[in-house]
Amino acid sequence: MARVRAIAVAVPVPGLGALTYSVPEGMPDPPVGARVLVPLGKRTVTGVVLGSDPGAPENGVRPRSPDYTLADSAKPLVEILDAEAFLPSDVVALASWVADYYACGVGEAIATAMPPRAWIESERHAAITEAGEARMLSERGARRDLLELLTGGRVASVGALAKKSRGVQAVLAGLEADGLLTLTRPLRGTADASRTVRVAVLSAQGSDEFPLRSSSFGEAGIKLGPKQQQALDLLRGAPDGIPLSELADQGIPADSVARLAKLGLAVIERRRVERDPFDLAGDGIARTPVIDLTGEQQATLGTLMERASTRAYHAALLHGVTGSGKTEIYLRLARAVRDAGRGVLLMVPEIALTPAAAAIFRAAFGARVAIQHSGLSDGERYDQWQRIRRGEVDVVVGTRSAVFAPLARIGLIVVDEEHDGSYKQEESPRYHGRDVAVVRARAAGALIVLGSATPSLESYHNAQAGRYALLTLRRRVLDRPMAHVTIVDMRAELAAEGPDVVLSSRLRDAMTARLERGEQAIVLLNRRGFATVVFCRQCGETMECPNCSVTLTVHKAAGRARCHYCNHSAPLPKVCGKCAGPYLEQLGFGTERVEADVRALFPHARVGRVDRDTIRRRGAIGAILARFAAKELDVLVGTQMIAKGHDFPSVTLVGVISADVGLGLADFRAAERTFQLLTQVAGRAGRGVLAGEAVVQTLYPAHYSIQHACRQDYPAFYEDELKFRRAMRYPPAVALLNVIVKAKTRQGAMEDAGTIAQGLRLPGVGAWRVLGPAPAPLGRLKGEHRAQLFIKGTQRNAMRTALLALLEGRPELKRRTIVDVDPMSVL
Ligand code: ADP
Ligand code: ZN
Repeated sequence: MARVRAIAVAVPVPGLGALTYSVPEGMPDPPVGARVLVPLGKRTVTGVVLGSDPGAPENGVRPRSPDYTLADSAKPLVEILDAEAFLPSDVVALASWVADYYACGVGEAIATAMPPRAWIESERHAAITEAGEARMLSERGARRDLLELLTGGRVASVGALAKKSRGVQAVLAGLEADGLLTLTRPLRGTADASRTVRVAVLSAQGSDEFPLRSSSFGEAGIKLGPKQQQALDLLRGAPDGIPLSELADQGIPADSVARLAKLGLAVIERRRVERDPFDLAGDGIARTPVIDLTGEQQATLGTLMERASTRAYHAALLHGVTGSGKTEIYLRLARAVRDAGRGVLLMVPEIALTPAAAAIFRAAFGARVAIQHSGLSDGERYDQWQRIRRGEVDVVVGTRSAVFAPLARIGLIVVDEEHDGSYKQEESPRYHGRDVAVVRARAAGALIVLGSATPSLESYHNAQAGRYALLTLRRRVLDRPMAHVTIVDMRAELAAEGPDVVLSSRLRDAMTARLERGEQAIVLLNRRGFATVVFCRQCGETMECPNCSVTLTVHKAAGRARCHYCNHSAPLPKVCGKCAGPYLEQLGFGTERVEADVRALFPHARVGRVDRDTIRRRGAIGAILARFAAKELDVLVGTQMIAKGHDFPSVTLVGVISADVGLGLADFRAAERTFQLLTQVAGRAGRGVLAGEAVVQTLYPAHYSIQHACRQDYPAFYEDELKFRRAMRYPPAVALLNVIVKAKTRQGAMEDAGTIAQGLRLPGVGAWRVLGPAPAPLGRLKGEHRAQLFIKGTQRNAMRTALLALLEGRPELKRRTIVDVDPMSVL
C-alpha cells in the first residue's frame, strides 16, 4: 500500500497550531509556502503549507490544539492553489518562529506575512459542458459517474466530490482537459486585486499610412467621424497607447474608441497599473544632497561597509545623537549592498510620521523601491507585495510588518528609531518588528543595523553584552550645537500664577521672542483632547466610560466626552448625571486646550495642531507638516507624533508641556519613554543654522529621566535605568511574560488568573517568579474585566512552555487569555 503523504498546514484561525492533512492520490506534493484549500470543521479554508512531514517539522511547528487536530487531522486537502511557493520558504520559517516565540497560532503569524486578498475563501466548482453532455454515454467508470452527477446543469463543489470518491482530482483534471467539464471558482474576494485601466493602442492596420485627414477609409470606404479621426491621430502619436480616461479628458468618448476597435484600427487592452503609495508627507520637504561625510560618519560607514561585505550575519547598534546624520549612512550602505546584488530592507516606525527616510530612499532608488505600511489601501499593499515577490525591487521601505516582505537575498536590514514602541504589535501576533528583524538577518546572513538617538534598554544591553557591535555618533553634523534645555518647575509656576496656567512664563517669553524674529516653535503635550476629566463640585462624581475603567476626555470642538480606549462618546452634559447639580468643572488639559491657549496668547501667530483628532483623514498629517515646513505656520502644537524624525530647519524652540505625562503610570518603561520623548523632541530644535532651545515643564524636575534627557546624556540614563530594572527584576535584567485574563466579572477574571498562577508556582516547576494575580491597571476594558499576572525569570522558553502546557488543557480559558512575550506596555 502506498504511504500516505501528509503535510503540515497553517490555517488563519487564532490560537491554532499547524494542522496535518493528507495529499490525495493524483495530486502532487505542494511546495512549502503554497496555498491550499483544506476542510476545517464545516468550512473550507485557505491554508499555507509549512512542510511535508509534521512528525518531524523542520520549523519545530507542532499541532497545538487537540480539539481541532483530532477532528480534522489527516483529512485530505481539497485543492492546491499554487504550483510554486506563494510565500517564500524563508518567510514561512520566520512566521513559524514568530508563532513559537510569541505564543500565537501559526496561522495568525502566517497571515501577518501575507498580502491582502491572498486568502481565497471558496473552492472550485465543477460544471458539465455541452460536449460533456454529448459524450457522457460513451464514457466509462469514474468519468461516466462524475458526468452523470453533473448532468442537467447540476454544479458540485470539488471538495464534496472528493469526499465521495478517492482519486477524484485526477479524474476531474482529465475531464477538464478533454473539455467535458469546467472547473470554476465562484468569486468571493478572489478577484485579482491589481487595478487595471483600459488603454487604446493603435493596431497594425490603424498605423498603416492611410491618408490621415481623409473622411473615408480603406477599400470599404468607411467613414470616420471627427472624434474617431481625432482619436486615431492621437494614437498615431502615442506608440504605448493612451488610457481611455485620458482620451475622455480630451473630449473623445469611449464609444468612439470602441468604434475604432471594431473597425480593426485600434485595440483596447487592459493594463495592470501599480498604485503609487508615495503620496505621503515628506515629498514636500526639501533636502540638499550631502556631499562630504563628517569624520564620525565616515568611520562608522567604513565599519559597516566592511561588515556588509563579509556576507555573514552581523548586528550593530548605531547610537547617534539627533541630527548626527544617520540617514545618510543608511543610504550609502544601502547603495553598496544593492550594488553587490543583495536586497535591502529599511524599517521605520510609522511612515506618515517619519516621512524623511522613506522619501530619501525613494529619491535614491526610484522605481526599485517598494513601500509597505498599514496606511496603504489593500490594493496598494497588494501591488507592492507582488512587485517585491516578482523581484522587481531591491529596496523595501516599510513599517513593522515589512519584516515579512518577500524580498529575496537580503543583505542589509536597517531598523530606524529602533526604540520606537510602534514596532511592537499590540494584538496577536504580539511580535516586535525589530527583534524579528534580527532573527531574519541571522537566517539570511545579513547585516542588521539598529539605529537610534535613544536606544532601547534591551538593545543597549545587548550591545554591552557583546551581542551587537556598538557604534556611536556623538556630534551633530556641521558642528551644530545640541539644543539648550531649560527645566521649568511647574510646582513653583502654579504657586505663582494659579492652577490654570498651561504655558509657563518662561515658555511664553521664549515664544514671543521666536515669533518676533520670524522663527518657528513646536509645543508638545502627549495627551489629546481639551480636558481630561469632567468633575461635579457638588457630589464629587466624575464622568467615566461605561465600558472601561477610565474617565472620559473632553473634546470641546466636537462638543463631546470620549473614551480614548473604546471610543465611546457622549454629549458634554450641562448638569451632573448623578446629582443633577449645575456645578460641573473640567480638569486637566490636552493638546486641544494648549492650542486654544496659544491662540489666545498669540492672536497673530498661525497655529496648527497634530494629534489623532486632527489627522483622521488620510494625508491630513502630511498637509499640516508640509505647511509647517513651508513656513505657512508659526507654531505647531501636537502629541508625540511631532517628536519623531521630522527635520524643520527653522524650528528654534521646542516647548514640552507636562514632560512627566506617563511617569505616574504603573508601567516599568515609563521613565524610558519619558527620556526618549524629551531627547527626541529636544532634537527637533536647532537642526538648521540657527541654534535651538527647549523649555521643559514638569512637576518632577529632579526625576533622573528628565535630568539626563536635559543633558542629553544617554549612557548616564542607561546606568540609572538599568539599576532600577535590576532591582525590580524587569527587562532587560530578566525575561517578562505579561498574562492577562479576561472575564465577564472581576471575580471570574481574578479566579482564573489565580488558577494559572498556582499552576506555575507548583514546587519543582521551574526557576521563575510569578507575580499576581492582580486586577490589571486597566481593570475594565471594552466591557471586559481583566486580571493580570507577570512571569519573570531568565529562561524565557521554559516559562512560555510551562504556561502554554497549562493552558493547553483548558481551551476555553486559553481563548480568554492574552499572552504577551517581551511586552512593551503592561497597562
Ligand atoms: P539623524 O537621523 O541622525 O537625526 P539626519 O540623518 O536626519 O540625522 O541628518 C540631519 C540633517 O543633516 C539632514 O538634513 C541631513 O541631510 C544633514 N546631513 C547629514 N550628513 C551631513 C553631512 N555630512 N554634511 C552636511 N549635512 C549633513
Ligand atoms: Zn471606554
